[in-house]
Amino acid sequence: MQYNRKERIERLALLYPGDAASLCELHFDGPFQLAVATILSAQCTDQVVNSVAEVLFRHFPDAKSLAAADPQVVEELVRPTGFFRNKAQNIISFSKEVIARFAGQVPDSIDQLVGLSGVGRKTANVIVTVGFSKPGIAVDTHVIRLSKRLGITDFTDPVKIEMDLMSWLDPEEAAAFGLRLILHGRRVCSAKRPRCQMCTLGDICPSFGAF
Ligand code: SF4
Repeated sequence: MQYNRKERIERLALLYPGDAASLCELHFDGPFQLAVATILSAQCTDQVVNSVAEVLFRHFPDAKSLAAADPQVVEELVRPTGFFRNKAQNIISFSKEVIARFAGQVPDSIDQLVGLSGVGRKTANVIVTVGFSKPGIAVDTHVIRLSKRLGITDFTDPVKIEMDLMSWLDPEEAAAFGLRLILHGRRVCSAKRPRCQMCTLGDICPSFGAF
């Protein structure tokens, strides 16, 4: 059977319609809150992050307020997301850095974002794509797994996958495509128990039934 990328891209778009902002399951108001929510989402579900962030942003809605926050108060607020001491420290430091280096405005480029506290390449891509509608793709564990199972890339390293996908995807569609892989990974094609028998991509997936 021949599998082509175009068909898989189109089928995923039919399955999960919308743009990057609407496909992202985190709740936020503006790039700063998106950045904080994304930092909190490491090793945590978006549902838990959303419930934590709702309370956190009620107390600390912007960089100025979070930069001045009592670390122990922030730790307690973000505790349900796991790794809460590190995450509290990161979001407070991130806020201070945004104020000191970018006049309180979250930057919109990967290069400026990577290296800020708690921000790696994946988080930076979420911020620029979802927060600023710029081209990019956030490669997380779902994107790595799904792109391999669907035969979309030969690479396994996250940065190489990102570069490969960005080299042939329509830049305007790249972010949404990545988020569609994430949604399909969460809902159907899980790491341990992919539900191939109920997967609507089964007829175009080279890994159908291989588990
Ligand atoms: S057919 Fe199976 S392996 Fe392929 S995307 Fe669907 S669930 Fe994943």
